[in-house]
Amino acid sequence: MAKILIVGAGFSGAVLAQQLAAHTDHKLLVLDERSHIAGHCHTERHQPTGVMVHVYGPHIFNTSNDVVWNYIQQFGKFVPNLNRVKAVTDRGIFSLPINLLTINQLFKKSFNPREAEAFIKSIAVRIDEPANFEEQALAMMGSLLYETFIRGYTIKQWGCDPRELPASILKRLPIRFTYDDNYYHSKYQGIPFDGYTAIIERMLSHPNISVKLEQRYDRTWNQDFDYVFYSGAIDDYFACQLGRLGYRTIYFESEVFNGADYQGNPVINYCQESVPYNRIHEHRHFTPWEDHSASIYFREYSKETEAGDIPFYPKRLARDITLLKKYRELAQNEAKISFLGRLGTYRYMDMHHVIQESLDMASKFASHTGPLETFPTFPNQHP
Ligand code: UDP
Repeated sequence: MAKILIVGAGFSGAVLAQQLAAHTDHKLLVLDERSHIAGHCHTERHQPTGVMVHVYGPHIFNTSNDVVWNYIQQFGKFVPNLNRVKAVTDRGIFSLPINLLTINQLFKKSFNPREAEAFIKSIAVRIDEPANFEEQALAMMGSLLYETFIRGYTIKQWGCDPRELPASILKRLPIRFTYDDNYYHSKYQGIPFDGYTAIIERMLSHPNISVKLEQRYDRTWNQDFDYVFYSGAIDDYFACQLGRLGYRTIYFESEVFNGADYQGNPVINYCQESVPYNRIHEHRHFTPWEDHSASIYFREYSKETEAGDIPFYPKRLARDITLLKKYRELAQNEAKISFLGRLGTYRYMDMHHVIQESLDMASKFASHTGPLETFPTFPNQHP
């Protein structure tokens, strides 16, 4: 029986704790500096509307991974949910991700899938090896679609020139030559019936798991444990001694609407650079099975993370990757610790990636014969 410290009570830490409790006899302490479990997925009922609010922004669970889907459902019921985003642009309101309806409406055409594909090919900018986000977008869709839906939103979201950003970010946003307007291309998609926090609570309820909230971690505590799993920000672990990695944070202006429906859709994106926010989320639409007479919505803004802000999105600009390498080298000198999750490994991961990697990490730890790596690698790891 070992004493194990898990820093962070989001999906990374909770899945790991749940699995180690189920498959070993280790004593597990899960710490979180916030006053609640579930990290960025935390949900709570807003009073007085009674609407279930995704406090750090909406999370729609989606995955094509059978293992993850079967696993998560042990901890709560998921109600099927498709994410149909609308986009406000200078040229009108369209459906996202860019699909056949978007293309036909923007270009005032009535293409079938093959015609649309040929048309987009004909307007795409010829760039043999796109080296950054903007080049990737121009090569994929040409300049009108890029200017209408992508450029302004991306500048607001990331706070930099899209030519500085990695092309990989755009892979999250497909172009479809069908009328399928579901934001995600995943086999399974849903919203937890009673919220994410209830799911994480069930994961953490085991006699060998103790949870301490409002507890800022200090790395001198490592000596009191046989092993540490750290899912906080890797630069924070080292008190940012080499400098801060670039993260974007998001913040919300929330408003109550005294009526049943403020905007008619869960998420509306604002793609123009001139509108200061990126999206408006109306939470009642994430639980369409519930009735509420008033509604709450969040305007989402993005900004650079400063001391005290919560990091959300790793920027991964060239200078960040250089700094990350240095932090990883420092981390390799630390004994008996592994880093995990979006912040611990500084990668743009979704919930299902995080869950899969924590499942892999737990099984590697439970069955290992030698020491676990500081940054374990797994088959099918998210890049
Ligand atoms: N994006 C965009 N316009 C949109 C939505 C997304 O340009 O209306 C770009 C933007 O650069 C964003 C990326 O696509 O960062 C990924 O979008 P996604 O919706 O997956 O971001 P998330 O939900 O993780 O914030």
